[in-house]
Amino acid sequence: TLEDQITTVNPTTGEELEHYPYHTDTEVTNAIENCHKAFLNWRHVPLEKRAKTIAAIGKELTANKDALGQLMTDEMGKLLKQSGQEVDLCAAICAYTAEHGPEELKGDERTRLNGGKGLVSYEPIGVIYGVQPWNYPSYQVIRFAIASLMAGNGVILKHASNVTGTGKMLEKIFKDAGLPDHLFSTLVIEHDQSDAIIENDLIRGVTLTGSPSAGRKIAEKTGSELKKSVMELGSNDAYIVLEDADLELAVKMCVKGRIYNNGETCIAAKRFIVVDKIYDKFKEGFVAAMKAIKLGDPNNDESQLGPMAREDLRETLHKQVTKSVSHGAEILCGGEIPNGKGFYYPATVLGSVKPGQPAYDDELFGPVASLIKAKDTDDAMRIANDSRFGLGGGIFSKDEKGAIELAQKHFDTGMIFINTFGLADPAMPFGGVKDSGYGREHGGFGLKEFVNVKSVILG
Ligand code: NAP
Repeated sequence: TLEDQITTVNPTTGEELEHYPYHTDTEVTNAIENCHKAFLNWRHVPLEKRAKTIAAIGKELTANKDALGQLMTDEMGKLLKQSGQEVDLCAAICAYTAEHGPEELKGDERTRLNGGKGLVSYEPIGVIYGVQPWNYPSYQVIRFAIASLMAGNGVILKHASNVTGTGKMLEKIFKDAGLPDHLFSTLVIEHDQSDAIIENDLIRGVTLTGSPSAGRKIAEKTGSELKKSVMELGSNDAYIVLEDADLELAVKMCVKGRIYNNGETCIAAKRFIVVDKIYDKFKEGFVAAMKAIKLGDPNNDESQLGPMAREDLRETLHKQVTKSVSHGAEILCGGEIPNGKGFYYPATVLGSVKPGQPAYDDELFGPVASLIKAKDTDDAMRIANDSRFGLGGGIFSKDEKGAIELAQKHFDTGMIFINTFGLADPAMPFGGVKDSGYGREHGGFGLKEFVNVKSVILG
């Protein structure tokens, strides 16, 4: 029946793609037990040999780039060319991890207080349960799974329902690349099957990327089981544009930062805080550029913005826009649901954005930009930090030294982009503060989130 399965839908056409029956509780338990058995061997595979398998996964991803990219576009509507970029990033993460992982994880020798020897090593802890979102359907899985596998752990994935096909294809890619059987398993489950997974003694860590509400539930459950969790949650990132900014560059990067991946990115630029002196000029350029964005079929090379991933997500976004307007925001462009099939929403700019409006207080997970005027630099910084979130942010200023000072000492987020907009980089730590979560992916830190940091003291 319809209740026993997930049905995926193509957001470009609104048509059904595929049906996936839910795994039974017994199948779930078996998958965890098999993963644990595979882990008992994998933990003893030397780092260099694990790295070879990780490198092979990267090559297999590249070999499947077209099919995987098309599937992602079909399942969640991202532009086909950006799906290709996502697969390239995944392959790069594998290559980077294979090259640097063994060094990061090899441990070291220390001299103790009494002059004796001590050894510090990073040992795997077991099976890690990852709950992942649909917005970067391959990248989100790759970034946590590759780090966990490199560290010697096993991985159980619960992917977002609407990208179940991508989860399954990744499982096949891992297997075809030579990863031992059962070490990486995708489960097709309902939310209420998740608690039993977290309770299972063989699960030794839990990582979630998603909304703060899902994060709260999963973190609470994981905490009550005394297991470690990593939470990569949403945000309402501020980009501040200062008086001495290169305005042309700021407009270009802010537009890209807002609409890349159809506006469905955790570290997208969402609030644009511009100082009074240049506000009107920035607004003119920014609104003109957003108005010019071509909304259309993600398979078409000329489209700059595809549909939103699900109809209910478009409803939520539109409600946030209309509520913001009823609380004093003004629509400078967009803001209307177009007729026709597909879950499209136009590039939209809201002006006069203030506290008390969803556009100021909450995350708008779609192509809607919030413009906010600040008196000066201090005021811009104050507004940027006036948020319960703290994932990323941006600064546009020609004074690089001043911008670094602001970024490091004043911006309450985990990542800041100066005069640019960027996504993830395997060399740089990725993660947030406040309601954006805790823990880090990438940059060496991701590899050590789920390890037993072990001390061996020699007498
Ligand atoms: P979501 O609704 O929280 O879903 C994320 C995942 O959690 C999905 O697999 C979902 O499964 C699952 N889930 C939700 N509630 C659950 C529960 N009670 N028990 C078990 N599983 C549960 O988020 P989303 O809409 O997919 O993703 C968008 C959010 O993720 C945004 O807030 C975005 O900013 C954030 N995000 C953060 C990062 C980061 O690195 N910080 C990166 C990307 C996205 P179903 O699909 O089956 O509901």
